[in-house]
Amino acid sequence: MADRHVDHLLIGGGIAAASAAAALRELSAGGSVLLVGRELDAPYHRPPATKGYLQGRLSKPEALVHPEGWWAEHDVELLTRTSVTALDPAARTATLSTKETVTFDTALVATGAMVRRLTLPGTELDGLHYVRALMNVDLLKRDLAAAEAEHVVLVGGSYLGCEVAASLTVLGLRCTVLMMEEEPMERGFGPAVGRHVRSVLEAHGVTVRGGVDVAGFAGGERIERVLLAGGEELEADAVVAGVGATPDVMLARRAGLTLGDLGGVACDAGLRTSAEGVWAAGDMCEYHSVLHGRAVRIEHEDVAARQGAHAARAMLGADVPYTEVPYFWTDLADWMSLEHLGAARDWVREEREGGPGIGPFAVRYLDRDGRLVAALSVDGGGDLEAARAELAARAGAAR
Ligand SMILES: Cc1cc2nc3c(=O)[nH]c(=O)nc-3n(C[C@H](O)[C@H](O)[C@H](O)COP(=O)(O)OP(=O)(O)OC[C@H]3O[C@@H](n4cnc5c(N)ncnc54)[C@H](O)[C@@H]3O)c2cc1C
Repeated sequence: MADRHVDHLLIGGGIAAASAAAALRELSAGGSVLLVGRELDAPYHRPPATKGYLQGRLSKPEALVHPEGWWAEHDVELLTRTSVTALDPAARTATLSTKETVTFDTALVATGAMVRRLTLPGTELDGLHYVRALMNVDLLKRDLAAAEAEHVVLVGGSYLGCEVAASLTVLGLRCTVLMMEEEPMERGFGPAVGRHVRSVLEAHGVTVRGGVDVAGFAGGERIERVLLAGGEELEADAVVAGVGATPDVMLARRAGLTLGDLGGVACDAGLRTSAEGVWAAGDMCEYHSVLHGRAVRIEHEDVAARQGAHAARAMLGADVPYTEVPYFWTDLADWMSLEHLGAARDWVREEREGGPGIGPFAVRYLDRDGRLVAALSVDGGGDLEAARAELAARAGAAR
């Protein structure tokens, strides 16, 4: 016998589940909603972790998705510090880490992603950090202060490493970004934009080194040196690694939900999983995208929020494909901002409007047939809304 029943169960305490809660309440005043999240805090926005929160410009309450009183005001039950340890989709039952069992009519699995960890010699030493949660930032800042750190090495040249380098530079630390690719962010935005990102970072004193293979770390109890393949050693007081994330499908796998080739939970175009009554949203949702014409899994905050809201509508009976154009933004301190729309990997040609150089510019990414597949706005350049309409029109045509 289950301990209790809820109409809608939201599993995971991130932006996807929090947005689903808000959409459920916007669309329907009735029906019980329970959100179960593993973290200590109520759902919060992760992007500030490497930006305003790290720089000390934004507090934890300011980073919350919904203000503290929202949950009670909207009659959504929030259980933090609690995991769903088992999910039985056939019986529509979830077991919580409190040992409580809950039956549900519909469920959303939004368990997000976990940082990818380096597997290199010396990773057991103190002074190696990863940033996923605000708590990681608290630990990083305490450690940097305690070690009287002056020089931090960032492993990884994607947006995360670049953002942390910019924020720590603002805080007065010296930063070096190391990456295998030649230019920062080039995997997402291409080498020309990558060279521009490098020039902005370097202009503010960040050392950027591409084509570098980190072989390990050395020191006493904590990291003192970063070892590069080829024998070079770099002194470092601390290291922050930003080498990607992997979808957290542990619960979904145990529950027997079908997984996709990209490592996420396989969903149809409407974000429905292989189990009746169970949807997925956010970083671990691998859905058949009408827009892309293939399965995709996207790790962007705006996508997780929109998917959570879309899944909520589906949990209330709507049956429409998810066709939103993916949107991503990043800020390097107040040095530069980037906004990106569309599918990052599919372009063969770039068309630039202005720059890269001083001032705003934009890039249109085209496929082999000359169709727009993605658009980038740097420092507000170009017309992203026109690009969004152009990209969305394709989804409309494909439906
Ligand atoms: C440092 C950082 C900076 C970022 N910056 C940007 C940015 O500038 N722009 C942008 O577009 N995107 C950014 N992103 C990406 C964006 O934050 C993510 O795409 C988004 O947070 C995904 O939300 P989610 O709800 O899917 O997953 P998560 O935010 O990962 O939330 C999932 C939650 O579920 C919990 N959970 C897992 N399993 C269980 C279980 N069994 N029971 C209960 N709870 C469980 C997890 O502990 C976690 O709290 C950033 C990400 C990080 C880490």
